[in-house]
Amino acid sequence: MKNITEEFGSLVFDRGVMKKMLPEEVYRSLKHTMYRGEDLDITVANVVAGAMKEWALANGATHYTHWFQPMTGITAEKHDSFLAPDEKGRAIAEFSGKALIKGEPDASSFPSGGLRATFEARGYTAWDPTSCAFIKDGSLCIPSVFCSYGGEALDKKTPLLRSAQALNVQALRILKLFGTEARHVEANVGPEQEYFLIDKEMFMKREDLVVCGRTLFGAKPPKGQELEDHYFGAIKPRVSAFMKELDEELWKLGVFAKTRHNEAAPCQHELAPVYCSANTATDHNQLTMETMKKVADRHGFVCILQEKPFNGINGSGKHDNWSISTDKGVNLLEPGSSPHENAQFLLFLCAMIKAVDEHQDLLRISVATAGNDLRLGKSEAPPAIISIFLGDEITHILECIEKGVPYDGRGSEQMEIGLHVLPSFPKDTTDRNRTSPFAFTGNKFEFRMPGSAMSVAGPNIVINTIFADVLMQFADELEKAENFNSALNSLIRRTVKEHKRIIFNGDGYSAEWEREAERRGLLNLRTTADALPYYASKKNVELFARHGVFTEKEMISRRDILAEAYCKIVSIEALTMCDMASRDILPAIGGYITELADTVNALAAAGVSAPRHESETLEKLCALSDGIYGSLGKLREATEKVRAAIGEAECPALCRDVVLPLMEELRRGADEAETIVKRGSWPFPTYGDLLYYND
Ligand code: ADP
Ligand code: MG
Repeated sequence: MKNITEEFGSLVFDRGVMKKMLPEEVYRSLKHTMYRGEDLDITVANVVAGAMKEWALANGATHYTHWFQPMTGITAEKHDSFLAPDEKGRAIAEFSGKALIKGEPDASSFPSGGLRATFEARGYTAWDPTSCAFIKDGSLCIPSVFCSYGGEALDKKTPLLRSAQALNVQALRILKLFGTEARHVEANVGPEQEYFLIDKEMFMKREDLVVCGRTLFGAKPPKGQELEDHYFGAIKPRVSAFMKELDEELWKLGVFAKTRHNEAAPCQHELAPVYCSANTATDHNQLTMETMKKVADRHGFVCILQEKPFNGINGSGKHDNWSISTDKGVNLLEPGSSPHENAQFLLFLCAMIKAVDEHQDLLRISVATAGNDLRLGKSEAPPAIISIFLGDEITHILECIEKGVPYDGRGSEQMEIGLHVLPSFPKDTTDRNRTSPFAFTGNKFEFRMPGSAMSVAGPNIVINTIFADVLMQFADELEKAENFNSALNSLIRRTVKEHKRIIFNGDGYSAEWEREAERRGLLNLRTTADALPYYASKKNVELFARHGVFTEKEMISRRDILAEAYCKIVSIEALTMCDMASRDILPAIGGYITELADTVNALAAAGVSAPRHESETLEKLCALSDGIYGSLGKLREATEKVRAAIGEAECPALCRDVVLPLMEELRRGADEAETIVKRGSWPFPTYGDLLYYND
């Protein structure tokens, strides 16, 4: 790479390129569409399409595709070449405004949760001009939404854009009350991405990794992560080469990859970008995950994004850093130095406290997948209980406001919000509680529950909407007030009083917190199956409908897609275990049993009694083999039942209560056998082989 600032965004049709290539009035009109959501004129679209085509061809592209984000959680694309015949049958390059604005993939095979019957299978994709087009593998990718002909969202981008709109509308109402100047408010997101890099040759030898992206068997190696020698450790040359190439690829795509380091577990790493608008951040995170996988392959690695690839070793998450800012670039979660800024900040802070308390269920649901369930609450990731961390200082300030008592060191003066200056709180004291699911970290919130494999669209749709909803209630109340300051004071005081149960600054990993949370009446939805019944509750349906983010029909379809994905993943994992147990593990144990039995027999024939190691191991392995065989039979039967019940309401609970415990039972037996069977006779690479290949 020549020069990082020159190469940055070289494959992106960004504002700089647009400005250079488009006539001034077209550029202005497009900007209004991008930043004010104004409708796009077809004549403008034609000019933009022409410029995009010229630029794409000049940069070596041959195809274009509407790049969209269906409910699979990953991205989808269908490529068309720019080629078209002219009247004489000669090849010309063509790309019209119509083709730019709208595409029609035959999209009948994407999950739609019943929104699209197969006879009306076509959905359509529509250009999202707020996210820049880019070139990937010789194709011009046009970020797009994906909807049914009835206008129902079939993707993750449409509701994200709708929620951004709701947030903008409600936040502007609040700013108006404070007299703060702004034309537009948007959410900013910086997702920290964790991942594992595993040697490809070793990876391919394990059916569980290949099929499920995580190990379903595997005894704990003698060394796990207890020495904490991997976190921020020196990066090994092979990994470093991967990271270098990954950064370069991402920079060309305009992704602001910033920080890279080793994470807590062996073979685990993290990449964090510089934050940007939630929409672009979501697109960029998808590109990041895709690029990680592609580049890993070139270096003989497989990049694992699944949330819990190894038992007993930290899984991977994706911290969703979230803040809101105005078009003037002011971060509205930044505590200020004037009474005005402080009052506004406190109001936004209290809005989030109330939003998180009232919608614990939705935040939990937004991170619910079979994979992520395996790490939440396991002393490596936040618990499944939602709470909010504010740090001692802000918590103390809120307590004083609630009780109407003066601050320490401020004499007898009682603070009135909007008139007095808050004591300043140093930023760095607000962070460093890694056990909280939702932490205020100085000028942003950090939602730490999302799993490494999931799109950040889901969590941000929820955060945007619940926050917008509370801002709406606040604005309704304050707009009516005769005395703004006193209404503001009482609103903040009341909000703290009513919702302080959600504030928790202690150790989220402790058993004591689980008990305390129960006493406070907080939800503890341990699994996806526990969370699903809350999905389309009256409260939630009304919330999303109120802000035009989801219709009831869309909510139900999404709930059903989530439920089905959960059951399918669990059943695929269960079947993979059965396959490995019966075709690899039991035969391997049998092989070693035969070897031991031969030794014992030979010794007996020689008139010598077998040493204890041989005779006892033989007995132990026979018992384990029987146990594994028994568990295997039970798991097979239960999985059959799940397969037959997919799509039915009771299926997720069947996975949780029957299949997952049986998977654990089968694993226990097999993992114990692994520690006994002779080295070299185990049928696939062990944790030690997988995690320390590079040492
Ligand atoms: P850590 O959480 O590891 O201490 P950082 O403070 O560096 O890390 O931030 C992590 C992520 O938060 C980065 O992606 C960063 O861009 C993002 N971030 C920082 N400030 C904001 C903000 N105001 N809004 C949204 N994301 C932010
Ligand atoms: Mg962080």
